[in-house]
Amino acid sequence: MPELPEVETVRRGLAPVLEGRVIAQARVNRPDLRFPLPDRMAERLTGARVLALRRRSKYILADLSTAETLLIHLGMSGRMLVSGTMLGDFHHDHPAPQKHDHVVLEIEGGARVTFNDARRFGAMDLMATDTAEAHPLLAKLGPEPLGNAFDGAFLAAALAGRRTPIKSALLDQHLVAGLGNIYVCEVLYRAGIAPQRLAGDLTAAQAAALAPVIRDVLDEAIAAGGSSLRDYRQADGELGYFQHVFRVYDREGQPCVTSGCGGTVARIVQSGRSSFYCPTCQR
Ligand code: ZN
Repeated sequence: MPELPEVETVRRGLAPVLEGRVIAQARVNRPDLRFPLPDRMAERLTGARVLALRRRSKYILADLSTAETLLIHLGMSGRMLVSGTMLGDFHHDHPAPQKHDHVVLEIEGGARVTFNDARRFGAMDLMATDTAEAHPLLAKLGPEPLGNAFDGAFLAAALAGRRTPIKSALLDQHLVAGLGNIYVCEVLYRAGIAPQRLAGDLTAAQAAALAPVIRDVLDEAIAAGGSSLRDYRQADGELGYFQHVFRVYDREGQPCVTSGCGGTVARIVQSGRSSFYCPTCQR
């Protein structure tokens, strides 16, 4: 499932293709994804110019010249494919239509953006740009972890008194937007905090120190995604999935990579999701 860094990588890959360009023709091949698609979606997109491509949490937002904003959520298996233009060092001819190509945007100048989603957990919607932040999927989100409103003082205050495990607290999208299972595991590993520790039991200093760790982990992953935009890993024109080396995620039974630790990565299940951690150096 794409997390914030993967979505940001998709946004950065799409920006040169879409920003400032007119959608010459939109094709919508089915009435719904996870939710019904908006009424007359193809008509409302066709002829619109994309003014800016933004990201909020795991949502991509395309502000259009029609005063509407297109919201895109990749869900579990949503893929964005770019063809007919340069993507990094590669030029991809338009592929033959695929079974799960649900929305296709033909861009002026010959580029094509295809949204393909086999499992249809993705979503798209159209709303007025000036009230976009009030959209039901966006209204209750906490601050962006890479934004100015998110810092040590904010996080210490948000975690104080919470009787939930720190792992669950950081996954709470009302507290901070866009963190998912993989990157929370990596954050807690780097911070030396066990995932089952209660959030409210962290000292204010420990809680505050998590904020820069969160930024570092996300920044590094976004940088890895950026390099994937420039090399062979997106050679098929697909954006957003890249090889990224995790220090603890999905490494159950393997040695802890912290030098001198000597511990073994363990896996526990919290709220139905796997937490990977080193019981030796995470307390
Ligand atoms: Zn360790």
